[in-house]
Amino acid sequence: MTAGPASDVAAAGGSLSTVEAYQSAILSAISPLTPVSLELADAEGCVLAEDVTAAVALPPFDNSGMDGYAVLAADVAGAAQDAPATLQVTGEIAAGDTGAYRLAPGTAIRIMTGARLPAGADAVVPVEWTDGGTSQVKVRQPAEPGNAVRYVGGDAAKGETLLSAGTRMRPMQIAVAASAGRKAVTVRPRPRVVVLSTGDELTEPGTPLVPGRIWDSNSYMIAACAREAGAVACRRSVVPDDAAGVLPALEEQLARADLLITTGGVSMGGEHDVVKAALRELGTVTFRKVAMQPGMPQGFGVIGDDKVPIFTLPGNPVSAYVSFQMFVRPAIAALQGTDDLSLPSVQATLAAPVRSPSGRRSYLRAVLDGTRVTPLSGQGSHQIAYLGRANALVIVPEQETGLSAGETVDVVVLP
Ligand code: AMP
Ligand code: MG
Repeated sequence: MTAGPASDVAAAGGSLSTVEAYQSAILSAISPLTPVSLELADAEGCVLAEDVTAAVALPPFDNSGMDGYAVLAADVAGAAQDAPATLQVTGEIAAGDTGAYRLAPGTAIRIMTGARLPAGADAVVPVEWTDGGTSQVKVRQPAEPGNAVRYVGGDAAKGETLLSAGTRMRPMQIAVAASAGRKAVTVRPRPRVVVLSTGDELTEPGTPLVPGRIWDSNSYMIAACAREAGAVACRRSVVPDDAAGVLPALEEQLARADLLITTGGVSMGGEHDVVKAALRELGTVTFRKVAMQPGMPQGFGVIGDDKVPIFTLPGNPVSAYVSFQMFVRPAIAALQGTDDLSLPSVQATLAAPVRSPSGRRSYLRAVLDGTRVTPLSGQGSHQIAYLGRANALVIVPEQETGLSAGETVDVVVLP
């Protein structure tokens, strides 16, 4: 992978990489997935790899914008509450009626919303302006020419680009593509993400704990994070801290993954950090320290013949969560050829003082309420209980060792 000078230095020596340098090293190493053609029903959450143009003008014909009567505006020009214009009703056109109708001057045709405007008519009088008559109608208000008429091409011209390549297919965009006549679209698919927790201490939730063990939360959390970011994600059973078993366990997943994520086994503890040990031997994954808290030990690279990107996130649940949002989330967008997943950042007033290590950017779990942000009291990387209460992360810049209540801070709003 290619990396900027700052992260090269960090990777080589003991110095820390900045969050931004690490992010750009990751993005420069990710290639977007190959586009595929998907039917509209399967394209939700995918990113267009082509422009979508209108197959016909929209709307494709002049039609009524309301339920009412198709008329010649001149025939109702003098209509008033106490002096209604009375017109003969000669027929009715419902939406979907493909017949060719013609309005004779001095008459009206009952018409429904979306029905094709008859030739000879130039306005629609809403039913609310009339007595609703069926053989004859009294119109109590004049209608300008064009009133309640939706003209051909008034929405879009034939051939007009309605959606540009790079647009994510959310429900509105799916509606646009369907309205443009498309059955399928060429998109970059949702990345397939496989998540593996590592650690001898991990037990499946739902099975009894014995002393020395904890329940695995990371794989469920990170798979959910990936899904929230638009990926198709699954977790696999826990990988034990067995140096010989890690690489085969990862390689087994390669066929079904566009991105692999592990948690645990990458800190500084030596022989128990089996993920780091196993991947280091490959030479395609770089481990570094990033100037942040939580989430300092990070690993990223590629694995297998297809060079599948792999993140090795730290094991503490809060570290894994923050690392996902800062580094994996943008990588998922990059696999779809976009950068539209960045989390919103707002400014807010700090409700309580905070501390932060010098030289590292802190991301503190907090509750954001309007323009006021309250840091949660338990900021340990293992304190998952507090993660459940947070809706935001307060950023304390690298050079600050503390901030006072009342100061303005940048806050990342969590999805
Ligand atoms: P490690 O990065 O493997 O040294 O783990 C750091 C800390 O995170 C340890 O306290 C682990 O028990 C904890 N941890 C690691 N993986 C998980 C997991 N999947 N779920 C919950 N806690 C974990
Ligand atoms: Mg571990």
